[in-house]
Amino acid sequence: MNKAVFFDRDGVINKERGDYTFRIDDFVINEGIFDSMRLLSAKNYLLFIITNQGGISKGVYSMDDVEKLHKHMLSLFVKEAIRIEKIFLCPHHHENESCLCRKPGSLLIEKALAIYNIDPLKSYFIGDRDRDIMAAQNAGVNGIKVESNQDITNICRSL
Ligand SMILES: [Mg+2]
Ligand SMILES: [Zn+2]
Repeated sequence: MNKAVFFDRDGVINKERGDYTFRIDDFVINEGIFDSMRLLSAKNYLLFIITNQGGISKGVYSMDDVEKLHKHMLSLFVKEAIRIEKIFLCPHHHENESCLCRKPGSLLIEKALAIYNIDPLKSYFIGDRDRDIMAAQNAGVNGIKVESNQDITNICRSL
């Protein structure tokens, strides 16, 4: 079986701004992320991003905006020789509809575990919110709570 590290997006990979990030101009990669991901890949972890994008449901921005931003993000990773297996996102918001994919729901993690044959016990979810850790626990993955915009290189080195 494979092992994986799941990353929350806003506050872990890029700056948590206290507001929705959907414009490329507002997207700033956090210190240490490239090194962190390369360290994990070298240890044979598959890398995933799992992100709540409730702003889509609220009409703040569109799926197209998110796809453009993610294309930009992936191009930055490619330049750094980092491979992200897949980005999973929930476009819903609990004020408008209920779903199983919005964290703390664990459906997106469970999908990744099944599709990529991943052992949850050897895998980690790195997030800056309690709901990230709850999602991880609901899927049987080890949760690691970090401060928003923290440099996570040392944490990743220890995995
Ligand atoms: Mg976050
Ligand atoms: Zn959802």
